[in-house]
Amino acid sequence: MDAAALRKQLARWYTRNARELPWRLTRDPYAIWISEIMLQQTRVAAVIPHYHRFLARFPDAAALARASEAEVLTAWSGLGYYSRARNLRKAAQTIASQGEFPSDYGTIRQLPGVGDYTAAAVASIAFGLPHAVVDGNVRRVIARLTNDGKADVQAIAGRLLDRRDPGRSNQALMELGALVCLPREPLCGVCPVARHCEARRHGSQADLPLKRPRAEVKRISVVLLVIRKRGKILLTQTDRVKGFWDLPEPFPGARASGGLGTFRHTIMNTQYVFEVKEAMIDRAPRGAKWWDESRLREIPLSTTAKKALRLLANAASPPALISP
Ligand code: SF4
Repeated sequence: MDAAALRKQLARWYTRNARELPWRLTRDPYAIWISEIMLQQTRVAAVIPHYHRFLARFPDAAALARASEAEVLTAWSGLGYYSRARNLRKAAQTIASQGEFPSDYGTIRQLPGVGDYTAAAVASIAFGLPHAVVDGNVRRVIARLTNDGKADVQAIAGRLLDRRDPGRSNQALMELGALVCLPREPLCGVCPVARHCEARRHGSQADLPLKRPRAEVKRISVVLLVIRKRGKILLTQTDRVKGFWDLPEPFPGARASGGLGTFRHTIMNTQYVFEVKEAMIDRAPRGAKWWDESRLREIPLSTTAKKALRLLANAASPPALISP
């Protein structure tokens, strides 16, 4: 592979085709770090509004470090995988105690929740350091360019990196994977690096990268109870998403009545089917708490509770308890 020619063609293509994304308009390591953590498990279109809101609420590491865990989880609400938010807050506390954002790969990599990919992305994009990123897009592009499902992707990404502008070079390779070298139907006809691509030459694009065996999906049925009293609703903390308030499951003394409906929700490799029922009780169980229904927007409320309360709102058509 002629790495120099490939770099040049890729850079030219990126200049013409890069999407205008808000985190590409800044060199602020804090903002770039936030965007990279959000993008780990969430699509670009879904991240954009969250990114703006989160940065408006926590404009720098000091602001994030001062916030309570509940405040950070509430701001993260809707993005899922909440360990990311907890780690962000812990890492912000480390950064705040150090006085500034670390500017070398090794120190960035030591922040809670930061792996090889994120450290390389922040180091290269914010500080121009020569660290090649390897994410799913890069893995796929390199497997196809080399026609080798077992290629040493990190080493090849390092060879393809343009050391004069590593951040831009990294983003160009990821962008190629996101826009052209698509997982199912790569757009080889318009690919700027097609002439370097061994998979294209062999017609093996669809076989690469090698598929990993899928983790087994568990299916679990859960009943959630809507218990209300004089404008308040009973909520409990849940193990499904730690730090969040959720509707309680059946407990001794709870008398379930009308069913409000069902919905599905997937967390990691578990597919839940939730059945939502109204219920009455004489005494709240330990750990549960009555919350004013008008204040639910202010607390970290689980996605499952939001979905269940939407069923309640649809059944009764009262003013919505929560935002859509
Ligand atoms: Fe991907 Fe096709 Fe380009 Fe090869 S030619 S890198 S398979 S889009």
